[in-house]
Amino acid sequence: MLGAVMHAPGDVRVQDRGDPRIEEPTDAIIRVSAACVCGSDLWPYRGEDEMQWPAPMGHEYVGVVEEVGDDVRDIKPGQFVVGSFWGTDNTCEICRAGYQSGCVNRVPMGALGAQAELLRIPFADGTLVATPALPSDDLVPSLLSASDVLGTGWFGAVAAEAGPGKTVAVVGDGAVGLLAVLAAKQLGAERIIAMSRHESRQRLARQFGATDIVEARGDEGVAAIKELTNGLGAHSVVEAVGTQESMNQALHAARPGGHVGFVGVAHGVSLDGMELFWSLAHVHGGPAPVRRFLPELIELIWNREIDPGKVFDLHLPLDQAAAGYQAMDQRDAIKVLLQP
Ligand SMILES: [Zn+2]
Repeated sequence: MLGAVMHAPGDVRVQDRGDPRIEEPTDAIIRVSAACVCGSDLWPYRGEDEMQWPAPMGHEYVGVVEEVGDDVRDIKPGQFVVGSFWGTDNTCEICRAGYQSGCVNRVPMGALGAQAELLRIPFADGTLVATPALPSDDLVPSLLSASDVLGTGWFGAVAAEAGPGKTVAVVGDGAVGLLAVLAAKQLGAERIIAMSRHESRQRLARQFGATDIVEARGDEGVAAIKELTNGLGAHSVVEAVGTQESMNQALHAARPGGHVGFVGVAHGVSLDGMELFWSLAHVHGGPAPVRRFLPELIELIWNREIDPGKVFDLHLPLDQAAAGYQAMDQRDAIKVLLQP
């Protein structure tokens, strides 16, 4: 089968990777209907992450089950399934508490390479959620978004305690930030401030429910949020970038007693203890336990109550994965969908 492999920063090739096989009796093999390029795939692409080259790429996927191992009970061949970027048993104490991304048996799906025609899924019963039937084509991008960016934006909004009566600020206008706006809206937030300087992203943020746009960044951006909130700061702030600047902006934009949900993969971020102490903020985040939210997100998508698939503004065949990475790296595309 064909799959995307990164050989060095900036060098993505689609090549034969050999078909995956059932290795554990709890595995399934799926035929990938759609995969995509993640903002976090850009860190190694830009040479900012240490990697073992060559590396199979991709951790977001939806597809049809081809085969299951002997111990798989719930997932059946022929089902259309969505899974998260961790393979997780969904039975350990951490999973049952809703923190599947910290599962004691977790397997990073990125290591298995979801930007491919076929994919092995560890702990199929724990990792995958089946849709009620085979979806129509137009639902596939939205279901794919649930695999990571929607689930991650959703966790950011939940961690920031977005809800009725709350003002939510979202730092970051990538797919995760935009979908955190959608999540905040679904969770009933009263006011949603999207921070973005890009016209097309601002437009999407408004479609997803943003009531205000702030273009300024850094201290100016924080001042703008304070101005919109009677000088107090937002109740809830979602940080969806992962840089020192975005983290500072998020912390400073939260009011005392407010909540910061941080879901951008942190790169070179350090927090000042005294600043944290005086912020009086709740700070919660990390790799999103997407599996916790999948049943609810799939239902919202299935009933066409949300349309998160709009973040995929470029669809390419899998064999053009390199062009997809380039488009995201140059910010020509918000999110690239790859079709095997
Ligand atoms: Zn677990």
